[in-house]
Amino acid sequence: MRAFAIPEGGTSELSEMNVPTPVPEGSEILLRVIRSGVCHTDTHLRAGYYDLGSRGHMNLTDRGIPYPLVMGHEVVGVVEATGPDALEVPVGSTRLVYPWVGCGECAVCLDGRENACARGRNIGVARPGGYADHVVVPHPRYLIDIEGLDPSWAAPMACSGLTAYSAASKVLPLPPAAPVVVIGVGGVGLTAVATLSALGHEAICAVDMSEANLAAARSLGASLTVITDAAGAADLAGKVVAATGGPVDAVIDFVNNEQTASAAFDMLTKGGRMVQVGLFGGEVTIPTALLALKMISIEGSFVGTLPELHQVVDLAKQGRVPRIPVVEADLDLAGVTRSLDRLAGGGVTGRIVLKGATP
Ligand SMILES: [Zn+2]
Ligand SMILES: [Zn+2]
Repeated sequence: MRAFAIPEGGTSELSEMNVPTPVPEGSEILLRVIRSGVCHTDTHLRAGYYDLGSRGHMNLTDRGIPYPLVMGHEVVGVVEATGPDALEVPVGSTRLVYPWVGCGECAVCLDGRENACARGRNIGVARPGGYADHVVVPHPRYLIDIEGLDPSWAAPMACSGLTAYSAASKVLPLPPAAPVVVIGVGGVGLTAVATLSALGHEAICAVDMSEANLAAARSLGASLTVITDAAGAADLAGKVVAATGGPVDAVIDFVNNEQTASAAFDMLTKGGRMVQVGLFGGEVTIPTALLALKMISIEGSFVGTLPELHQVVDLAKQGRVPRIPVVEADLDLAGVTRSLDRLAGGGVTGRIVLKGATP
C-alpha cells in the first residue's frame, strides 16, 4: 500500500512510500481509507516541534514519535479485514475512527478518558494514520458507525468536531445570553460556533483575522463578530469588551498564542473561564493577584473522549449541527503536501478532506 509519510531524519518533506499492507492481529481491524481530514496539528507535526516560548522548542523526536511518521487522524474507512478477536465488525462496513487511543489499562482509560492517558498512542501521531491507503485500528471500540452521514463531513468529527464539542462542553452550562467568545474561526473554531449554537447558546462572539471566516461564523450562529489583525492584537480585549457590552463569561481560544491568550484573560468577567485549545504556542504573563481576585479559571483542552465523539456523531445524525464548508482533494502525495501548505499558510474557510482512491 502507499503511505505518505515524513521519513526518518527530521526532514519536513513528505515522501510516498510503498509498505506492506498490514495484516490485522488479535483485536485489530484493517480499514481502507476513503476520507482523511487534514488538521492544522499536522503542520506542527511536519515542522517537528511545538513552540514553548522562553522554554524553547519541544521536539517531537523527544516525545517518542516514531519515524517514518504517517500522519492523518481524521479517518473514515471501509473495513477490509479483522483480527480473530474483532469478528463482530462486519467486513465492508464504513466506520469513523476514534484516533486518541490510550493504553486501555490505567485509571484514566478505565474512566473513559483515553485522550488523557499518559501512555497514549494516538493514531496518526504515535502509530500510523490515515495519509495512506490503509490504516490499522487496535480495537473495535474505536470504530463508530456513521450510517446516513456524508463521510467527508464525518471524517473531521474525529478531531475538529470532537475538539470543538469538548471545548464547548467545558464552558457550558451558561445562560444562553451570557457572551462566549470564540477566538480563531478556521475549521475547528467554526465547528465550535456551530456546536455552541446547536447546544442552545445564543450570545456567541467570533474573533478572526479573515472577514470570510467571520461571515461563515455568522451563518453558523455567531451573534457578534470582531475582526482583528496581528498588529491590532494588542487591543483585542478592548475591542471584544466594546462589542459584547462588557467583560465576558467565557473564552474558547483556538489560536492560543501570546496575544490571544493574554487578551482572553483580560476580557473575562469575575468568575470567568478561559479554555485554551490552539497549539500556536508561546507564553503569557498573568497578574496572579487578578487571577485570584477575579476567580478566573484557566483550562487546557486537547481533543476529547470516546463518549464525546459518540455524542458528536449523534448530534450530526439528529441534524442538530450544520455542516461547515469542506474542501475536497485527492489522497495522494501532492494532495497531502498542498493541503498542509495551505493550512500552514493561513488555512481555508472550513476543513480540507482528502478522498481515497476507489479500488
Ligand atoms: Zn487534529
Ligand atoms: Zn491509559
